[in-house]
Amino acid sequence: MLGNFQRVWQDRNDNVEDETEEKITQIRNLFRDAGFAVNTNYLLHGVSNSCYGDKLNHLLINYNGDVYGCTARDFNKENRIGFLDSCGEVHYDYKKLEKRNNSKLAKAVCKKCRIAPLCGGGCKQRAMEGLDTEGCTYHYSEEKMDQFILDIFEHSFMR
Ligand code: SF4
Repeated sequence: MLGNFQRVWQDRNDNVEDETEEKITQIRNLFRDAGFAVNTNYLLHGVSNSCYGDKLNHLLINYNGDVYGCTARDFNKENRIGFLDSCGEVHYDYKKLEKRNNSKLAKAVCKKCRIAPLCGGGCKQRAMEGLDTEGCTYHYSEEKMDQFILDIFEHSFMR
């Protein structure tokens, strides 16, 4: 039997690991010791199976015609990437759209990262939000990266 813990994204406001993730690791180890296959809170698959919000032609239209690229952020003017007019035509804010579409793997640290083929620099939304920082957008340590690789190896070949 395979379990996969998923975090409720709304309960965290930054990318730093917290007490919940430490506890989840302990719980996960208890399940594994009992013979269950339990992945980490998620398997990295930002490249092979990216979020629907990463797809080039994805858009979300709100009730009022506002257009968004991500369903996991507030539907406000700041996050809006365009609007739908009364004729059914979408008018994009191309500056925002371009920034969004060019954000994945745009950082120097991502271009040299050993797990970039797994992570892809994060989803467009997270990658865009992390553009102003130099380090890993997710603050992954070397140990964490090792763990991702081992998890995927285990998930792919050991079960
Ligand atoms: S540096 Fe961080 S965000 Fe960039 S590819 Fe590596 S793990 Fe992903």
